[in-house]
Amino acid sequence: MKIIKHAVGQVPNLELVGNIDESSDFGQIEVDGDELHVDCYEVARINSVGVRKWIIFFNTMKDRGVRVFFYRISTALVDQFNYIKNFGAGGQVISASAPFTCQSCKKMVLLEKYKKEIPTTDFDRDLFNCPLCQKKTLRFDDVAEDYFFFWRA
Ligand SMILES: [Zn+2]
Repeated sequence: MKIIKHAVGQVPNLELVGNIDESSDFGQIEVDGDELHVDCYEVARINSVGVRKWIIFFNTMKDRGVRVFFYRISTALVDQFNYIKNFGAGGQVISASAPFTCQSCKKMVLLEKYKKEIPTTDFDRDLFNCPLCQKKTLRFDDVAEDYFFFWRA
């Protein structure tokens, strides 16, 4: 896992990249201030040791009074948020990466989706704009009720 720190004032101010496992060191994360905005777009995989480290770290943040916000959580993390209660340790998921496939160009793309879109969008039926071929032929690859479950729990 690589930790990329963004410039002061930028949101998200931190980016996690790669796999979260026994080699991941959350202790490297510097927290200045009382908010942590974490971009999780490039978290490829997380194993059981990684899950434990993740939960311990974010619980520590909660105990220290740091408010945590997660952005673009990857599909691997969406699974954890759905399966493990309190995976976010009280942190708020601002947006999630969601998998779509284009019926025209046949490419798979990940789009950033926000909680506010969930009640007003029929992800299982609607077609979305493809950022690659510009046609409105993008279809959601999962079942909305399952994939976005963590936002309703
Ligand atoms: Zn396309």
